[in-house]
Amino acid sequence: MKKIEVTCPTCKKKFAYYSSEFRPFCSEKCRLIDLGQWLSESYAVPVHKLTEDEQQTLEQLIDEKNSDEESIDEDDRH
Ligand SMILES: [Zn+2]
Repeated sequence: MKKIEVTCPTCKKKFAYYSSEFRPFCSEKCRLIDLGQWLSESYAVPVHKLTEDEQQTLEQLIDEKNSDEESIDEDDRH
């Protein structure tokens, strides 16, 4: 089977595409960093009317991000 190597968009490290369950990122951390950048960019944009659905989706994303970040902090302490 052919190995496909790609570059992680966050840390620019090369990794085998199919070895990461967080592709196109090399790790969950890189995926979250990218998500965080995306979220802060969207906050910088003046918010016009959000529909109820959009508001719920945004709140879910923020909740997921916050809970994921807690587990990353624990990993870093080891
Ligand atoms: Zn990475």
